[in-house]
Amino acid sequence: MPEIAEVETVRNTLKNKILNKKIKEVKIIYPKIIETNLDEFKKVMKGNTFHDIKRIGKYLIFELDNHYLISHLRMEGKYFLKNSNEEILKHEHLIFTFTDNTDMRYHDTRKFGRMALVLKENLYDYEGIKKQGIEPIDDKLSKEYLYDKFKNKSIPMKTLLLDQTIISGLGNIYADEVLFEAQVNPFKLGKDITLSECAKIKSASKKIILKAIEEGGTTIRSYTSSLGVTGRFQQYLCVHKQEGKPCKICKTIIKKAKVNGRSTYYCEKCQNVK
Ligand SMILES: [Zn+2]
Repeated sequence: MPEIAEVETVRNTLKNKILNKKIKEVKIIYPKIIETNLDEFKKVMKGNTFHDIKRIGKYLIFELDNHYLISHLRMEGKYFLKNSNEEILKHEHLIFTFTDNTDMRYHDTRKFGRMALVLKENLYDYEGIKKQGIEPIDDKLSKEYLYDKFKNKSIPMKTLLLDQTIISGLGNIYADEVLFEAQVNPFKLGKDITLSECAKIKSASKKIILKAIEEGGTTIRSYTSSLGVTGRFQQYLCVHKQEGKPCKICKTIIKKAKVNGRSTYYCEKCQNVK
């Protein structure tokens, strides 16, 4: 599942390829991907131009003339850039054809991804966007903010780090890595966390996400950005998917457990798990 660093990589790659291209035609093959009324969607997209691509948390935000196209890739959503005369593949659900006869194709084997069109002034009224917390790379993320969000919650830290309304953009991979880097127990409840642990989580989030973006994200399992970019952060993973291997710091064997249904990887010594 693409997290902040992978979505950022998709954004940077697409930006180099599609900006200022004019959309000649939109072909909707699997309409459920689109939350907006289909006639309106087609009407707005036809003749429009992608002027910029922004990102809020895990959302890609394509800037059009008067609208934003909001895209969430969820589990397996990907964009492919192809020539328009290439055969349409099974999992290509939405095709934007540009006037230069190239396509941007949305491909999603699981069909969980979603797109919506909003007027520019309504971007922050969109449900998913409105609720986003602060990003790890945003200087506004402070230890006091985190402490305030965690302090009353009887919820494990691993689950709290996945809560997009607190820190925006972390998913299962980076939440594990952040907790290891910060030496925080993933099972510890929010209400038991200290201000100094919040300071460590803040620094660890920023450090790990900046490094992951620099490395083009993490390519594991089936997720690749599809745009010819293979992430390199997997070689820096300390705990995620590393069960059975020795901790890079203390050599204790990395363990795997479920926290609220999500696989969680940790070093019981470094992260003080009793
Ligand atoms: Zn360790």
